[in-house]
Amino acid sequence: MDEFTVKNETILGYMPGSRERKDLEAALKKVESTCEDVPIVIGGKEFRTEDVRYQVMPHNHKKKIAKFYYATPDLIGKAIDAAVAAQKEWDAVPLKERIAMWLRAADMMSSSQWRPVLNATTMLGQSKTMIQAEIDSAAELIDFMRFNAFFAKEASKYQPVSENPAVTLNSHRYRGLDGFVASISPFNFTAIGGNLAYAPALMGCATVWKPSDTAVLSNYTIYKIMTAAGVPPGVVNFVPADGPVFGKAITDSPHLSGINFTGSVPTFNWLWSAVGKNIGRYVNFPRLIGECGGKNYHFVHPSADVKTTVVSTIRSSFEYCGQKCSACSRMYVPKSLWQQIKCGLLDTRDELKVGDATEHDSFMSAVIDDKAFKRITGYIEHAKSSPNVELIAGGGYTDECGYFVEPTIVESKDPRDKIMTEEIFGPVLAIYVYDDADIEKVLDLVGSSTPYALTGAVFAQDREFLKYAAERLKMTAGNFYLNDKSTGSVVGQQPFGGSRMSGTNDKAGGPHYVLRWATPQSVKETF
Ligand code: GLU
Repeated sequence: MDEFTVKNETILGYMPGSRERKDLEAALKKVESTCEDVPIVIGGKEFRTEDVRYQVMPHNHKKKIAKFYYATPDLIGKAIDAAVAAQKEWDAVPLKERIAMWLRAADMMSSSQWRPVLNATTMLGQSKTMIQAEIDSAAELIDFMRFNAFFAKEASKYQPVSENPAVTLNSHRYRGLDGFVASISPFNFTAIGGNLAYAPALMGCATVWKPSDTAVLSNYTIYKIMTAAGVPPGVVNFVPADGPVFGKAITDSPHLSGINFTGSVPTFNWLWSAVGKNIGRYVNFPRLIGECGGKNYHFVHPSADVKTTVVSTIRSSFEYCGQKCSACSRMYVPKSLWQQIKCGLLDTRDELKVGDATEHDSFMSAVIDDKAFKRITGYIEHAKSSPNVELIAGGGYTDECGYFVEPTIVESKDPRDKIMTEEIFGPVLAIYVYDDADIEKVLDLVGSSTPYALTGAVFAQDREFLKYAAERLKMTAGNFYLNDKSTGSVVGQQPFGGSRMSGTNDKAGGPHYVLRWATPQSVKETF
């Protein structure tokens, strides 16, 4: 295997007048003025059904940017057949060639031909601001491709001991999983779609990919790039579909070898129980890998630096409208710092501009769709009417033109109120102010008041306390931050994932992730 190393993609600055800015503006114009027809693609062939859907811009929901089609159960079955048929030949392609394809794809994604398209489809379709799109659909997506290729190469080096190779030679190799892997991806990161569908493919699996309805266009762009980079027909099948219809079709197939999922706990539970019910019918035990959200915390110690705490919390809670799985949505603040922190949060929040994703001074734009808008505003109404909760900033919303929700901050007198314990997935930060003397009780609450364990952050200048908290809270977060915000994990630097109800913690962007999509074979040859 040829040696190579990788580093994280540089995040571009998009200064006015820069080449990248001009390219992006041109791509935005093009995407906004078109309603792209996005087919279902099975075995390289395009299909369209009567069940027509549209992807709209969340910040201007009258505007359609993509027309797509829901696959029927019959077509999902065809996609499964196409994947199963393609898998064996694909697995026989040497890993070295697959890796070269992935590195080529990463370079294409980084190029001035494709990067603007990835970012424009993400900005308009998922209402990400320019910087939020750049760190997702450019940097993170490219990183997933390059780092997974690197991790696959490193893993392939492993060979077992052969004490006397002239007599007995032991060897080891990875192959892809037989059958097909179903990839079910979310709207909130374009890069996650690329990773869920293509990490298994890199390792020799074939996938049936159901993108999110609200990320179809950016995800289809990834599909086009990967195909242009050389991924053959049938290896990844692009199949937008109704969730329950898709879930049933894949879990009913005996060829299901894995599910690569990011989404809600109820959906992952449903998939898990459907697999359980059908367990006797599969050729293999399907591998279920899921990342399912959180109720992430910022815990503030009396020794915390106020400015760092405030800026980190505002960014974590409100960047991309709190729609990152890692976003901070509950905060614990000691009484001794509350007035300073409160002033800091309110002043900083007042400066945030909410606007169209394409207005470059917007800090945040609209939430993804009507369903999200209703869920989030339901929590805001709860805050307004509950005697335990006080709205201290924001609380406004409108869906007249786009699904806009103000960055909202509430103080809850009850640390177990639902606003402090349930996932909201929107721009709502709930704060519990604790008596400095009750710190131990509050540390207990951090771990016991929600079923999740995705991300968490502790703010303190007292290093002894940081050490203590890291041990005390070790089961409460798969990604744990000391004096930094709970969002913004970087591929290869902070592999991402959580345990408990946050998922199977297989750590996207880490060295072990690709191995979940490979099945090893030990070979002993005797001479
Ligand atoms: N990796 C992202 C972060 O650290 C979050 C991914 C997600 O939302 O699933 O912010």
